[in-house]
Amino acid sequence: MRFFLLLVGLTAYLTGAAADEGLFDLTWREVAKGVFVGGRKDALRYPVVANTTIVVGRRGVLVFDGGGYAVQGEQVLEKIRAETKKPVTHLVISHWHGDHHRGAFPIIEAFPDAEIITHRFTCAAMADGPERRVEESEAQLDTTYAAVRDAVDKGIWFDGSSLSDDEKAYFARMIGDYPEYRMQLARMKVMTPTRVIDETAIIDLGGKKATLIYMGPANTAGDIALYLPKQKFLATGDIAVAPTPYGFGSYPREWARVIRQLAGLRAAIIVPGHGAVMSDDAYLQKLAALFESAADQASEQKDEEKPAFDFDAEKAAFAAGDPVKARLFDMFFVQPIASGAINEARGETDKNEPLDGAIADLCVPAISAGE
Ligand SMILES: [Zn+2]
Repeated sequence: MRFFLLLVGLTAYLTGAAADEGLFDLTWREVAKGVFVGGRKDALRYPVVANTTIVVGRRGVLVFDGGGYAVQGEQVLEKIRAETKKPVTHLVISHWHGDHHRGAFPIIEAFPDAEIITHRFTCAAMADGPERRVEESEAQLDTTYAAVRDAVDKGIWFDGSSLSDDEKAYFARMIGDYPEYRMQLARMKVMTPTRVIDETAIIDLGGKKATLIYMGPANTAGDIALYLPKQKFLATGDIAVAPTPYGFGSYPREWARVIRQLAGLRAAIIVPGHGAVMSDDAYLQKLAALFESAADQASEQKDEEKPAFDFDAEKAAFAAGDPVKARLFDMFFVQPIASGAINEARGETDKNEPLDGAIADLCVPAISAGE
């Protein structure tokens, strides 16, 4: 009897363990022949994990956003080796935020001849950006996580609002995930791009034409999207993030225009930078309307000392009654979008993502668009 109970307990434990997705576990889906998308199922869990796309052509393999954490880059490499004997020839980085490239180095270590491609701005931001200042960000993170723990214990968030049980559970999980996150942060490496582009470029992989689309500032000043015309496949990078968007250092007026142009491609498979794969442009249109609202509100208030934005209706639509999504919409979009939107309305976009000019020069003598 005792043995039976033990067995039941063990089975329950193993089932539970299998169902519990690891912090950096990627799940893969072949969305078109030779096109694989990997992402973590739970898009909201923190730290956020970016989606990766692998495109296998006759001549070689292109990876779009190879991973923000080394453990992710290793899974991408494993997946490539499981699917093909072809070498990785191109690693494309959608934008400079570390969750899209800091963990991709295992792919380049395995395929050192692969080109590392970014937009020129992304290259400069990778050379100069906060992603390189690991120790500084670790010390800062320890402080932030201690403050979050305190907020959860008290049940009161930094803005004085009270936390629901769902939010407490979300942030408690975030705290629980911190040791693993910190361990992966310690492993991260920022690579140096080997080829930069200023405009849209096409890479012929053999049977697949990877179009790297640049249409102007959006989520950052250097976002590249990946489009495969024959497959009607679009990977947006963080130009689109689901289920709630991010708005750090962004350009909402231009962003709305860019996203409407991407929607105009009428892709049948749309992979956002984070979140589940989509099959139509409904979410892109929802984002475009949100960014237009931010830009319009900024235009109206650009001369005011204390501009105040109102996204209550949009928040209700994006959060759909989920208090965690509502909180994340505030933290990741409403709060950060204000300064970028005001800078854009005032014509001062150089304040959005300031770079060291001397370092930015590193990315000048590079090969431009075309193969
Ligand atoms: Zn991201």
